[in-house]
Amino acid sequence: MDFDTSSYLRRSAGRAKSDVANKLVGMLLHEASRLRANATGLKVSDLAYGNAVVATFGTKCIYCERELERNRAAVEHLEGMNRFRVGLHVPGNVAVACVICNREKRRDDQLKDLVLADSGWKSFLSHDSRSCSVSCKSCAYWASIWPDQDKRVERLSAIIAKITKFRESYAGVLTLAPLVKQQMRREVERLYRECQDFASAHIGKIANLLQNSEI
Ligand SMILES: [Zn+2]
Ligand SMILES: [Zn+2]
Repeated sequence: MDFDTSSYLRRSAGRAKSDVANKLVGMLLHEASRLRANATGLKVSDLAYGNAVVATFGTKCIYCERELERNRAAVEHLEGMNRFRVGLHVPGNVAVACVICNREKRRDDQLKDLVLADSGWKSFLSHDSRSCSVSCKSCAYWASIWPDQDKRVERLSAIIAKITKFRESYAGVLTLAPLVKQQMRREVERLYRECQDFASAHIGKIANLLQNSEI
């Protein structure tokens, strides 16, 4: 067993407030996705899109290529729907991954600045032990799947090529005008910030009241 219950419990306290801000960011990005789908006439829920995902990736995780299992699969946003990646729920950005890859990829998704690649999904697949320090958890993850370095480099670059090609078919939906993209990033960041400030101010006020009434 390598599960660390005590550190899991310790980390839980810090999350609550940012979860709310992240939720709002997700709502905003879903709304933007809806507008994008209306403008392009392409939706993730279209039968044709589901068929295209199956034709490209079959019933395997798009990253590690292991067979997907019921209850062990997650809807995957290649470019994460968070304030750093500003990905949308639109064709070309949505597929299915195993829950392990979905979780492992968060390390890259939550980096403000990526160093290995220009997108979250590509960065995740670029941890081939050639650029990171020996303590990199993402490199260790891929090494656990393909222990042989040459094989690992070959598989990861083949998967990057496959996903790149898949996304090219949806360039019309995925490519936002640079100015629109910039504005989206700004608004998402602002929403996140304002939500955090709102929560801090109000919770602080209520905490004071509670303290004064000697809860
Ligand atoms: Zn996987
Ligand atoms: Zn790495």
